[in-house]
Amino acid sequence: MRLAFISDIHANLEALEAVLEDMERQKTDEVYCLGDVVGYGANPNECTEIISKLCANVLLGNHDAVATGILTTKHFNVHARVAIEWTAEQLTPENKNFLSARSLSRATDLFTMVHATPYEPGMWYYITSLEEAAFNFQFFGTKVCFVGHTHIPMIIAMDDEEVFVHQGKQVFFKGRDNLRLLINIGSVGQPRDRNPESSYGILDTVEETFTLRRVPYNITGAQNKMKKIKMPEFLINRLTEGR
Ligand code: ZN
Repeated sequence: MRLAFISDIHANLEALEAVLEDMERQKTDEVYCLGDVVGYGANPNECTEIISKLCANVLLGNHDAVATGILTTKHFNVHARVAIEWTAEQLTPENKNFLSARSLSRATDLFTMVHATPYEPGMWYYITSLEEAAFNFQFFGTKVCFVGHTHIPMIIAMDDEEVFVHQGKQVFFKGRDNLRLLINIGSVGQPRDRNPESSYGILDTVEETFTLRRVPYNITGAQNKMKKIKMPEFLINRLTEGR
């Protein structure tokens, strides 16, 4: 089985469509979504409808939680707040119901997935250092755990107590029984690692590999729609630079 993991789509339909095409070329069998389907972009309903039909499982992200009234905008900066207020007005009752019914984490025999952190996923903490990553390895029981939330793709490995950043876009773990992985799959709709291309990941359960993918998309098309609905300039411009 080839399992695709996507996160932080943020209502960017152009990015989502490009990633779906890449999945087709990569012959993936199932798709799992780690949340933040909406917020920032111009197509919250379209993206929610695609995701709800497509994915084997979808988690709740903090932007989904605010857009559906589960959380307040208390921790949002002014740009995120403007975007989420517009999003909350646009979302249909059906899409709000779908998003608000999502869970915070999911674990199978193969992997764990959570939007923010395995430790207290409902607190929406960020993993931004090796120390924070090392701490979080205690809070999942599977070999691999997928996270999103920071919009920065990263593969963190733990091998015989040592925690380190895995260099490169692919990990082979066949026969490597002591290896555990905490993988941030990055963001489909608003990458922030200075690479504007959409980011997602593929777990191949037969080959026992994980691969990070980057996919170019029609950034100008997404930005033009955001201009029309008067999204903050900062949110529009950041897509060009991937920051
Ligand atoms: Zn996000």
